[in-house]
Amino acid sequence: MLDIKIERATQLKPLPEENNPLEFGTIFTDHMFVMDYELGKGWYDARIIPYQSLPHDPAAMVFHYGQEMFEGLKAYKTDDGRTLMFRPDKNIERANNTNHRLCMPSIPEEDFMQALKELVKIDERWIPTKEGTSLYIRPFLYATEAYLGVRPSRNYKFVIILSPVGAYYPEGLNPVKIWVEETYVRAVRGGIGEAKAGANYVASMKAQEIAHEEGYSQVLWLDGVEHKYIEEVGAMNIFFKINGKIVTPKLTGSILPGVTRDSCIKLCTQWGYEVEERRISVDELQKAAEDKTLEEVWGTGTAAVISPVGELKIHNQVLKVADGGIGPVSQKLYDTVTGIQLGKMKDTMNWTIEVK
Ligand SMILES: *Cc1c(COP(=O)(O)O)cnc(C)c1O
Repeated sequence: MLDIKIERATQLKPLPEENNPLEFGTIFTDHMFVMDYELGKGWYDARIIPYQSLPHDPAAMVFHYGQEMFEGLKAYKTDDGRTLMFRPDKNIERANNTNHRLCMPSIPEEDFMQALKELVKIDERWIPTKEGTSLYIRPFLYATEAYLGVRPSRNYKFVIILSPVGAYYPEGLNPVKIWVEETYVRAVRGGIGEAKAGANYVASMKAQEIAHEEGYSQVLWLDGVEHKYIEEVGAMNIFFKINGKIVTPKLTGSILPGVTRDSCIKLCTQWGYEVEERRISVDELQKAAEDKTLEEVWGTGTAAVISPVGELKIHNQVLKVADGGIGPVSQKLYDTVTGIQLGKMKDTMNWTIEVK
């Protein structure tokens, strides 16, 4: 058990207005969790303190060599007033895989879980209850040693902040248009693509900017070597329903192993669909679109849960997905995952963990 010191905020912030839509990632709660690490000493000084800026030495290694990882998960309020987190154990496991890849210290799983629960509990009043809303949880860890030279830092900070977030699609599930990027790449096998690191996002911003200019909301990445095989979308994994089968790119090292991805594979398999994790080429998608066998496309990620895709732009060609609407599998996945998250549907997979 961590001995978490608690310093409560003396002045609590006003909660956001119930009826104002919450813009993702703009409002933060009253408290944050912080813990420090020093080589040879381990993690120390676990504390929950009022939400505040953190002082850093300008030579802190994170600013120069980018040793930083983050996670993202959500807590929900059920109709009967319970607080649930969705598969936090998977985020904790992935965080430590990322830490390992970035030469950063791991966090004992039970300590991580305790920190999540205690912080969410303290700021429980911030969990919004309107349809589609939740409390987004952002744990992150970064190098704080003041040193200019390339090697792993000897000091780190682990922080958790919370942000109430609104429905990703205020008007309901809406198909998005996706830009298939053929010049820039996000990650290559052997790189850090499978780690949830800020550095992967920096690599992706240029293409995202171009896609936005062209009127597309997200980038679909191709493999970094042949620029031929589908990888994933900005902050989402991708699924296709082709001729009755569900296919998603196999995790080969350059793709982020999403928790929502894993949940969708498990649900689709349970529903009797054949789910294939394999390579999917752009050519295959173009053929499927021509043959009218490209039945559904959707992205999966914590923020939007399920994001139906209505259109893909590849090689100056626009591929329309079925009739451009929301497919039945996308809709069923959305209803089931959010149903479980909100405690409205039976959690037969034991995916939710109650905060009490
Ligand atoms: C976080 C993330 C995802 C989605 O993962 P979830 O665990 O489902 O939220 C997908 N791709 C990238 C690059 C990510 O950073």
